[in-house]
Amino acid sequence: MLIYNSKTHRKEKFIPIDKGKVRMYVCGPTVYDDIHIGNARTFLVFDVIRRYLAYKGYAVTFAQNLTDVDDKIINRANEEGRTAAQLAEEYSAAFITQMHRLNVQDPDMRPRATREIEAMQEMIEQLIASRHAYVAGNHDVYFSVRADADYGALSGRDLDQLRAGERVEVSDEKRDPFDFALWKAAKPGEPSWPSPWGDGRPGWHTECCAMIHHYLGTPIDIHGGGQDLIFPHHENETAQARCAWHTPLARTWMHAGMLRVDGEKMSKSLGNFYTLKEVLDKYPADAVRLLMLQTHYRSPLDFRFEFLNGMVGNVERLASCVKNLRWAAKNAPQDGSFDEADRTLAGAARDAQLEFTRQMDDDFNTAGALAAIFGLMNAANKYLAEGGQSLTTAATLRAADTIQELLGVLGIDISEAAAEDELPSGLTLLARELTGFAGDDADAAAKALLCARQEARANRDWSRADAIRDGISTLGLVVEDTAAGVRLRRNRRA
Ligand code: AMP
Ligand code: ZN
Repeated sequence: MLIYNSKTHRKEKFIPIDKGKVRMYVCGPTVYDDIHIGNARTFLVFDVIRRYLAYKGYAVTFAQNLTDVDDKIINRANEEGRTAAQLAEEYSAAFITQMHRLNVQDPDMRPRATREIEAMQEMIEQLIASRHAYVAGNHDVYFSVRADADYGALSGRDLDQLRAGERVEVSDEKRDPFDFALWKAAKPGEPSWPSPWGDGRPGWHTECCAMIHHYLGTPIDIHGGGQDLIFPHHENETAQARCAWHTPLARTWMHAGMLRVDGEKMSKSLGNFYTLKEVLDKYPADAVRLLMLQTHYRSPLDFRFEFLNGMVGNVERLASCVKNLRWAAKNAPQDGSFDEADRTLAGAARDAQLEFTRQMDDDFNTAGALAAIFGLMNAANKYLAEGGQSLTTAATLRAADTIQELLGVLGIDISEAAAEDELPSGLTLLARELTGFAGDDADAAAKALLCARQEARANRDWSRADAIRDGISTLGLVVEDTAAGVRLRRNRRA
């Protein structure tokens, strides 16, 4: 399987450090507000990557932090007159809730910066001892980029060019404008922890690096985040690991492209800023996932509500195809033979599975993987439309299972939408009243009613046919004519 490594700028054969195991880390959110759909894209991308690695049989250990101490958290908490800890707790919980709604799997470890101070201080001490960091006059501790000969290697930046070309925050305390804070001395009213360098709090880059080392061990197999994190965040993370422990932080660096709304950068001032919560309040998670996975993870994603509306219909088409397949299987004649159409459908299911894997093995090409699933859906619909009464069970079930399983690898769960409607118990009573039915099984009652209706129509006995249909509708059901035959389903408008 090939994965594009942002560090080397090419697709590389993926070979885990420990056979059969993958250790991965994705930078988590800074919990000062609800996350937006751009953040959600990045978290979704890595959820699918993780799910696919597990599907391939790797034992995946996945860690993601919560940045729960930061300037933005402190500022907002001050504005709202509450503590930074209260604010961070609220938005940590909100983040986890929205991830669950989007069907993103929980990480195996979710360390919070404020509870991992010891590991960070150990790393900082190490960097000071090896002269890669220094304590400034204001009691901040800075990483010295000049002391790291390889600084810039991950993002392909050269310090001299950077200094000449970019404006960075100038501070008298820093020896080089690109030196970054490992430890920030506490200002009045800020949350702080005691340290050998005075009370203070950790810097953001320090947090991820120390947690990776502590929870997963360095180097890890895969480190991920959005493309905006390559510089300076990931550059700084990896510099610390290199200098503190003489090891790379990660073998493979993966970065998700930025989400844009209606072709523009999402921003509050443009009025095109959406939180994940408000989108999930209006649209099902499966539709959001389907839309986001239509674009390759490294490409910019063009988010539009009109596309999202289209995806709602696509999820329904997939679910109703699976539902029809299962229904056809259930109602197949006992003696139906495995004919040419069945062979074709079974072949389509096998091909879809192979194509799905081929696409995902090529740097997680989810768009190609989805095309394979839709291809199978089209083949199945054709089979159902042309199959008539000669449908058998094996091929239809195989196709239904394949569609459902492959969507499941992408975290799209159609099992509820594809589940057969439960028939109300009143159906047996109705069948007894209107037909010669005698029994308690709702499925059998439905069959008896549909048969009786068919018979009445064949005999042009319209009033009997209508009476049966009306009786059915009082139970909240409608008669549906499908390619695979007539059946009852719940009337959603009822
Ligand atoms: P933050 O809380 O700002 O650190 O962002 C959390 C994650 O979302 C990081 O991995 C960012 O790279 C990612 N991210 C931020 N904005 C976008 C965007 N517009 N599209 C995709 N990912 C984003
Ligand atoms: Zn990070």
